[in-house]
Amino acid sequence: MRRKIVAGNWKMNGSKDLAQTLVGFVRSRIASLDNGVEVVIIPPAIYVGDVIGHAGDELSVGVQNVGQWGSGAYTGEISAEMAADQGCQYALIGHSERRQIFGETDTVVAEKVERVLAGGLYAVLCVGETLQDRDAGDAEAVVASQVRAGLATVAPDQWQRVIVAYEPVWAIGTGKTATAQDAQAMHASIRGVLSEMGAPADEISLLYGGSVKADNAAALFAEPDIDGGLIGGASLIAEDFVSICRSVPANI
Ligand code: PEP
Repeated sequence: MRRKIVAGNWKMNGSKDLAQTLVGFVRSRIASLDNGVEVVIIPPAIYVGDVIGHAGDELSVGVQNVGQWGSGAYTGEISAEMAADQGCQYALIGHSERRQIFGETDTVVAEKVERVLAGGLYAVLCVGETLQDRDAGDAEAVVASQVRAGLATVAPDQWQRVIVAYEPVWAIGTGKTATAQDAQAMHASIRGVLSEMGAPADEISLLYGGSVKADNAAALFAEPDIDGGLIGGASLIAEDFVSICRSVPANI
């Protein structure tokens, strides 16, 4: 079902203390929001238990990555089933840092999406073009290809647990944000690709990510095909993150 979602990706940041103070603060503030936004905290896996302990029913929790295997001799990895076992509901897959730093290919991303969905979690597939792609006029084609490849194995009854986060690589952690119009155009294009794939495209939540801050979130979230955001740096600042959650309009 298409929902309004704001997810905070802590990346490799945080501590037990942050899990207590930030999650406690966010939880207390979002309880009074009436815009229907679902707020998800995505800490490093080692702090998932701490975050869940402070999240209550108000917040959902996710992991930033899972292995593409069920279990076994994969030192350092965690599985989708383990994340679900701990109480997570979401998993990010194919974040640009995973693709660029850890060399995750579209094939690996698709395997991970398959694991996440089989494990009963929501898969948040991250896609986005580089500046080079955009300058070459290839942004929509690159993103369309990542969507098709990453979601190639989704079964008809699994689309309801698919979310796509459009995150232009040049906007992540740079302070540069896509204009609301450019972001909307890409989201509409992604919805078109999902429709061509036979997915119930109007039911799938599409999030924008890339230097979303308290002062630019409202313009992005006002666009018709943007159903919320994936927030990196600003999700580590409690007041800013709450302000971003508050920026989701009640009518999308
Ligand atoms: C992210 O990590 O997914 C992200 C969008 O980061 P930032 O908000 O810091 O650009």
